[in-house]
Amino acid sequence: MRIAFLGAAGTVTGSMFLLETESGNLLVDCGLYQGRRQESEQRNRNLPSPIFTADAVCLTHAHIDHSGSLPTLVKGGYEGPIFTTPATGDLCGYMLRDAAHIQEYDTRWLNRKHAKDPDWEPIEPLYTQADALQTLKQFVTYHYWRPFEPLPGVRVVFADAGHVLGSACVLVEAEGKKILFSGDIGRRNIPILRDPEVPANADYVIMESTYGNREHGPIEESRDELGKIIRETAAQGGKIIIPSFSLERTQEVVYALHKLLEKDQIPPIPIYVDSPLAINLTQVFRSHPECYDEDILSWIAQHGDPWGFESIRYTPSKEESMALNTAEGSMVILSASGMCEAGRIRHHLRNHIGSKKNTIVIVGFQAEHTLGRRLVERRPQVKIFGVKQDRLARVEVLNGFSAHAGRTGLLGYARLAGENAKQFFLVHGEPDAQKALAETLRETHGDKVTIPAQGQIVTL
Ligand SMILES: [Zn+2]
Repeated sequence: MRIAFLGAAGTVTGSMFLLETESGNLLVDCGLYQGRRQESEQRNRNLPSPIFTADAVCLTHAHIDHSGSLPTLVKGGYEGPIFTTPATGDLCGYMLRDAAHIQEYDTRWLNRKHAKDPDWEPIEPLYTQADALQTLKQFVTYHYWRPFEPLPGVRVVFADAGHVLGSACVLVEAEGKKILFSGDIGRRNIPILRDPEVPANADYVIMESTYGNREHGPIEESRDELGKIIRETAAQGGKIIIPSFSLERTQEVVYALHKLLEKDQIPPIPIYVDSPLAINLTQVFRSHPECYDEDILSWIAQHGDPWGFESIRYTPSKEESMALNTAEGSMVILSASGMCEAGRIRHHLRNHIGSKKNTIVIVGFQAEHTLGRRLVERRPQVKIFGVKQDRLARVEVLNGFSAHAGRTGLLGYARLAGENAKQFFLVHGEPDAQKALAETLRETHGDKVTIPAQGQIVTL
């Protein structure tokens, strides 16, 4: 048996791992690579050829860096099943179509922009809505801990990864060996989701290492801090703008706001969720209570819908969104994209960044070279829609909302999952984070810790 590291090796996006067994090849995740524009374009259009030998696919969760190349795989001829949990399947119903929509929109825009350029070769989208729909037809779902055989004699179960709704780690038993793919590992005590489950005693552990060198603040602290920021901003008549990822972060922040309201820790000002994708995904959250933890279940028993209350407004249409541009008075606006690079958030930032009364609250990771990162750095001027604007609004950064395990969580995971492991493979992390985690793991596991390179193949 062999494993090929075809993506997310020495980087945090584009997860794809191919397990070659005697009875066929199993691909775990097929994510989009997200980085500098040209490199991303090149890598996403030319997926590593071994993935097209897959006979079955398992998907850990709906984030695009794990699922976003599935339509490319299908477009390239893959006709087999894509196994995942029911919640991930439903989330992908929106996520993959949204990704296709962005691909189609961007290529149309570029082709139009270069229409008069004689050297311009019109480009095709990476994939279309039709490719995304075909991909969804190939989904086959299993709940956590329901074993199935994606290939003859190869047994798989999903365990709850506690990272986003429906997220799973994949435990594969083949040829007398247990191989654990961690997917992205969640945190203990985050809202909505149960704590991550760790299948014990794997022979081989392929685990993420995103925060191998960092910890996050407690979520309660960030929630209290958010309450304070809203009280202060509302007191001076300002607006609170929150760029937020559509999947998980928006639902967590809305639930946090609902809790703050119930405790009278924020005034009942209007709260707008202005992102069609986030609105659709919130609907998926409502229909998967089997993924909830005790905390949200008892909250629902007492207070009803965590995402529905008097002061919340969802604004799916363009007209409703545009009406917010001229709306008066204090309000909270949550909008996508989370890193401020696309979507409706840019309009809200353009309209509100120039006033000292307003506050921009950053609740998620901001990659380099994004508008979100420039806001985190509190630059006095930023470009929005290509136009330089003075930043007078206050910027606050809350780190407690992360959906990834910090360093301690990762080490605890490794201890449980691979007490007697023959080998750990650290993936899905920047080099510094991987090195830090590997050094600590080597204290207990010696040379059984590997950081595989892109394209590396290892015999198990
Ligand atoms: Zn993820």
